[in-house]
Amino acid sequence: MIPMVDLKRQYHNLKKEIDAAVSDVLEQTRFILGPNVSALEEEIAAYHDLPYAVGVANGTDALLLALRACGIEAGDEVITTPFTFIATAEVIALLKATPVFVDICPDTYNLDCSQIAEKITAKTKAIIPVHLFGQPADMNPLMEMARKHNLKVIEDCAQAFGAKYNGRKVGTIGDAGCFSFFPSKNLAGYGDGGMVITKSKEIAEQIKILRNHGSAKRYYHQEIGYNSRLDEIQAAIIRVKFRQIDKFNEARRQNAAAYCAAISNQGIILPVVADGCDHVYHQFTIRTTNRDLLADALQKKDIASAVYYPVPLHQQEVFLKSGHNPVQLPQSERCAQEVISLPMFPELNREEIRLIADVINHVS
Ligand SMILES: *Cc1c(COP(=O)(O)O)cnc(C)c1O
Repeated sequence: MIPMVDLKRQYHNLKKEIDAAVSDVLEQTRFILGPNVSALEEEIAAYHDLPYAVGVANGTDALLLALRACGIEAGDEVITTPFTFIATAEVIALLKATPVFVDICPDTYNLDCSQIAEKITAKTKAIIPVHLFGQPADMNPLMEMARKHNLKVIEDCAQAFGAKYNGRKVGTIGDAGCFSFFPSKNLAGYGDGGMVITKSKEIAEQIKILRNHGSAKRYYHQEIGYNSRLDEIQAAIIRVKFRQIDKFNEARRQNAAAYCAAISNQGIILPVVADGCDHVYHQFTIRTTNRDLLADALQKKDIASAVYYPVPLHQQEVFLKSGHNPVQLPQSERCAQEVISLPMFPELNREEIRLIADVINHVS
C-alpha cells in the first residue's frame, strides 16, 4: 500500500528527538503558551526574516484572526479563489463578510490576477491568495492591485511553508501570512496547530489578544476573542520537524522531478512551475480527462490518490444557499473535474514513484 502521506516513516526517522521533546513538555508542565510556543514563534519569524510570528490553534483560526486583525468586518467583501479548501472562504463568511470568487489559471491552479480588477467594488477590503499545492500565487500583480485600491492581503500559506516567489518566502509579501500545522501539511504537528507571520506590530499584537479571549492582561478583556492558542506539545513536535523543513521540501522537489521524468502518458498534464517560483509540492497534482480510470487503476495496485478539490467553493451548497455568488468560473469548474493528486511526502522512494508512474503510463 502506498498512502498519500506516510506519517509513520517520518516519525520513525525522528522518533528519538520527538519523543524527547514531548516528554520534556510533560516534565516542564507549562502546557499553555509555554517556552516551546515562544521558541517556535521566534524561530519561524527568523526563518522568514520578519519581526513577528504568533502561534494559534489551527490554520483556519490563523486566517480568521488575521482577517479580524486587518479590520475585516460584516458587510465587507474579500476576494479569493474558489479552488481551495473551504477554510479560506469559511473565515470570510464567519465574519459576515462576503467571499468574492475570482477564477484561477488552469496551469498553476492559483488566482488569475488579471481577473481581480473587475471584481473590486467600494466594499472590497482584502484579498486572500492561496499558494495552492505548494506553489506561490502570482503576487506581483496582486500586490499592485491591492496597493492601488488600499486592500489588505492575507496570504493562505497552509500548503506552502518555505515556498518562494521571486526569492521571497510566501507569507512575507502581504500584510499577514497564515500557516497550518495540520498533520498532513508540509510542516506539521501531530494534531491541530497554526501560525500567523507579519511585519506589522499592530497586527501581531491584535492576534495575540484575539487568541487569548481578547485579553492582553490577565482577566482584563478588551475584545470578544477566542480560545485559540497553539498547543505547547504540538509546538515542541513542530520545532523538531522545522529543523528539517528545507531538507523535506527539497526531497519533495526531487520526488516531483522523478515523477515528471517517469510519467510519459500523453493524456496527463504534469504540474507547471511558474517563472521565479520555488514550488514545495505539498501535493503532486496532475490533470487528465480520464481521472476515474486512472484512480481505479491506481487503486487496483493498492496506490492511494485523492481529488483536491472536487467542488469549487462557488458551487458549494453553503455558498449557493447564501445566493451572493451566482457566478460561473469555468477554469475552476473544469479543474475540479480533471485534477488528481498522487502520493507525495519526503520519504517516498524512487521505486514507489516508478511503480506509480508505470500504472499511470498504462492507462489510456
Ligand atoms: C489546511 C488548510 C487550511 C486550514 O488549516 P487547518 O489547520 O486545517 O485549520 C486553510 N487553507 C488551506 C489552503 C488549507 O490547505
